[in-house]
Amino acid sequence: MKDVVAIDLGGTNIRAARVGQDGKIQARDKIETRAAEGFEKVVARMAELVGKVRGPQTCGIGLGTPGTPDPVTGVMHSAAVNIPDSAGFPLCPRLSERTGLPAAADNDANLHALGESWQGAGRGEAVVLMLTLGTGIGGGLVIGGQVYHGVSNSTEIGHICVDLNGRPCACGCIGCFEAHASANAAARDAREAVQAAGKKGKESLLYKKCGGDLEKLTAQALCDAAREGDTLANLCLDRTCDYLAAGTGSLINALNPSCVIYGGGLALAGPILFDRVRARLGKNRAYQPIWKASKLVEAKLGDDAGLIGAARLAFEKAGIPV
Ligand SMILES: [Zn+2]
Repeated sequence: MKDVVAIDLGGTNIRAARVGQDGKIQARDKIETRAAEGFEKVVARMAELVGKVRGPQTCGIGLGTPGTPDPVTGVMHSAAVNIPDSAGFPLCPRLSERTGLPAAADNDANLHALGESWQGAGRGEAVVLMLTLGTGIGGGLVIGGQVYHGVSNSTEIGHICVDLNGRPCACGCIGCFEAHASANAAARDAREAVQAAGKKGKESLLYKKCGGDLEKLTAQALCDAAREGDTLANLCLDRTCDYLAAGTGSLINALNPSCVIYGGGLALAGPILFDRVRARLGKNRAYQPIWKASKLVEAKLGDDAGLIGAARLAFEKAGIPV
């Protein structure tokens, strides 16, 4: 069996894994990113890491990175966060020079979607839409095993509008999906609800779960409090699910996916979140014949989704069937 080295370039660590044609991880390791030192040194450390995990059957490298690498040349179109000289950097060519292996790269959100579609919750599905509900909302669309890149190699699922008069978003638009339905947005809305509720807010489990320090209130605490029956937490979670259903329903209507996967911190909430979003989609947040041909499921691969997706990309680049 052939294998490839998959790399996940993060802000703190570079993670790598040797992955076989069966999609199973055979070995893994990591090294500090030290982004501030610049891309040339980051790639040198990446190559060192490849040397540690590669084996005699290794035939390529797949790499997930923040920002936008060109899927054909592997040159960075836009900056990868925190790495000063990343825009225009020939990422894949440099990594190939240092390792002697062909290298392919894609945006990390796209590779999460590809990983889940190959070996995770979207296995066997024709059209997979993945949404990662974390600090923001990232996402990717995989059609017949191929990542959809659009004409300029950029899709921004988290920035579709779900509220005309909504919150300002970091991207400069108003009422974006991620400004209302990310894990961070859910925590912020819950914090504001506790503050607005006065005495009742202080009696809420939301207040107790963060020890009275509302800045520390998390989406996980919100979901826990809702599960334990707290009234205010349930009102807040219902509101978050309204926005989640509005955005997800619009995407389902536009894309007709066979499967929608939620990953990221907010998806760890489980049935208390999924059941509410499904109920809304099945009622009036999606065009019903399209929703009936789809389903909403929880991601299965966790933090390894990006590595598995990067491996899938590497096999494709090397022309090896999986
Ligand atoms: Zn936005």
